[in-house]
Amino acid sequence: MRTFEDSYRHKGLRRQLVDVIRQKGITDERVLEAILHIPRHFFMDSAFDKIAYEDRAFPIGEEQTISQPYTVAYQSQLLELKPFDKVLEIGTGSAYQACVLAEMGAQVYTIERQKKLFDLNKQFQYLKKYPRLKFFFGDGYEGLPTYAPFDKVIVTAAAPFIPPKLVEQLKPGGRMVIPVGEGQVQRMLRLIRHEDGGYTQEIFDNFSFVPMVEGKNN
Ligand code: SAH
Repeated sequence: MRTFEDSYRHKGLRRQLVDVIRQKGITDERVLEAILHIPRHFFMDSAFDKIAYEDRAFPIGEEQTISQPYTVAYQSQLLELKPFDKVLEIGTGSAYQACVLAEMGAQVYTIERQKKLFDLNKQFQYLKKYPRLKFFFGDGYEGLPTYAPFDKVIVTAAAPFIPPKLVEQLKPGGRMVIPVGEGQVQRMLRLIRHEDGGYTQEIFDNFSFVPMVEGKNN
């Protein structure tokens, strides 16, 4: 069950959360503003209501999680979004990360491979606030060739390697933020695609994501 009441207490806890992630090093004010604005507790079961604004991941069913706010902020900051950027997200999950990007003005196309999680978002009224946020059921390794190319790609599951189709679907000069690694810990990478289809790669901090799995799960 979920509750959709945004009380003064929730708003206060959100301000504290923003202070916490600012102290951890997030400087992009538009990212912090989006986190301040979006009621994160709407995106999880009401059993987590009292702890929804702690800086940690929570279960959302199907063995998946809503990412830690610091991680959401970190990836969003690395994207260096411009208003109206067309963004592909792999791993919709709770849709919280997708809403942060939509709140920052991006046009977001997000893919989820778990049918149950995809279906849950269809009934989630809060998401109607973002008419330019589009949901797809599918395998993120394939991307969305019909809607490509994208200005930015964000992968929110641990990728064992850089999926070549996602690089192909980036515009020249476009960026991809992706945690790469097969063990418990992944390296956050940022790729910048070149005109000729190649890319340069920057390496950032370590994070721990649920795995990016091939194929769909009906
Ligand atoms: N962005 C999410 C994070 C969810 S966790 C949020 O803000 O809540 C990662 C999600 O990626 C899970 O829901 C998982 O099912 C999904 N996932 C894993 N492999 C995938 C793939 N190949 N294609 C699409 N989604 C995938």
